[in-house]
Amino acid sequence: MKITVVGTGYVGLVTGTCFAETGNDVVCVDIDVNKVNKLSNGQITIYEPGLEKLFERNLKEERLHFTTNLADGVKHGEVIFLALPTPPGEDGSADLSYILRVADELGKLITDYKVIVDKSTVPVGTAEKVQATVARHCKHPFDVVSNPEFLREGVAVDDFMKPDRVVIGTRSERARKVMGDLFAPFVRQGNPILYMDEKSAELTKYAANSFLATKISFMNEIAILCEKLGADVDMVRRGVGSDDRIGKRFLFPGIGYGGSCFPKDVQALVKSSEDAAYEFKILTAVMDVNERQKLFLMPKIEAWFKDELKGKHFALWGLAFKPNTDDIREAPALYMIDALLAAGATVTVFDPEAMANVHRLIGDKVTYASSQYECLADADALIIATEWSVFRTPDFDKIGTSLKNKLIFDGRNLFDVARMAELGFHYESVGRAAAT
Ligand code: NAD
Repeated sequence: MKITVVGTGYVGLVTGTCFAETGNDVVCVDIDVNKVNKLSNGQITIYEPGLEKLFERNLKEERLHFTTNLADGVKHGEVIFLALPTPPGEDGSADLSYILRVADELGKLITDYKVIVDKSTVPVGTAEKVQATVARHCKHPFDVVSNPEFLREGVAVDDFMKPDRVVIGTRSERARKVMGDLFAPFVRQGNPILYMDEKSAELTKYAANSFLATKISFMNEIAILCEKLGADVDMVRRGVGSDDRIGKRFLFPGIGYGGSCFPKDVQALVKSSEDAAYEFKILTAVMDVNERQKLFLMPKIEAWFKDELKGKHFALWGLAFKPNTDDIREAPALYMIDALLAAGATVTVFDPEAMANVHRLIGDKVTYASSQYECLADADALIIATEWSVFRTPDFDKIGTSLKNKLIFDGRNLFDVARMAELGFHYESVGRAAAT
């Protein structure tokens, strides 16, 4: 099939590459000239495990092309995916200007039947808006489908190639057939393609992300209670998660959720609810808890240093909002850095993939180490903000001798508390007793 993907970021590049991998002829369109040049020259623009190999193969076999020219993209694809940003607007609602601007252009460019697919996360009613915007200039037949994306950064290729489900929101039989054929190779193991109307598909994505964010904030509150009452959140998590109705995943407490999706999607659903004259109370609390949670470690750090952080130096492991990505959007680590710098401390950071992005954002406000151990030199304490695998079984002797104090504040509960006590560390984490 001939596919066009408009927007070549995390979702668009994975979508385009994975469709090419199943034999489709794919053109990816982006307005970022630099990005398109790099991609056309075989240089991948994001870190995503497993993607590079597929990208190189499909580029070489000429099933994957990149352009800045939307007209070429529209001419090419019988299915046109929109994988464009939907950042939060000032009032928290999803900013649809990227989508509607492209929809307006599509209206002028379409000359034969096209299926236009919203892959971006968009509020209920957006398919209708896209339909109306395209139709303003276009007299040719087309359908607008809502096909929300559920991939997780870090395992995006696996998620795309073997999705738990594919949601296709359309009431057009013609578009349904095209989409069904396109996604058939991805659901061979029997996972469902769920057909529904456009609005239900749009809401499904927000409901899924908001529910996951709720699980995280819920466990973060349980963790706070564990500390206050002397319970251990690891035990509680296991006890709770063994119940099939609850499940084991997304129950890990920490310093809050981040990334480009959960914060903006929860906020956008709250705003959609407000617009529908409904107060979504649970989600407002989920957001409040997460705001507080990002700085959960600060009072512990302040208490240890008796509120004297001025002149102290910290090593920070982990910048990405989660492991296996270089994405730092809304990363809790950035909030920690701001708080430490505001308190007069200095910070040296290390992350396996995200340092270039952080440098682009905050420049030399922090020092960048070339290894996780170099990061520790002369630091008063180590802070852990992202659960990268390489941090899970570190050389504790090296940590102990490099740091000024054997002191670790762990926002991701990577280590066993009893073990840390045996090793002679003062170790503080989330929802568990401190090791001293
Ligand atoms: P991104 O910012 O990584 O990528 C967006 C791309 O669109 C950029 O490359 C940008 O240059 C390009 N772009 C902007 N305006 C354009 C235009 N007029 N024409 C062509 N290209 C244009 O965003 P993303 O993370 O891929 O997210 C895209 C959408 O998918 C969002 O709605 C997001 O909520 C949703 N989503 C993201 C994820 C994720 O994990 N990142 C998962 C599921 C859904």
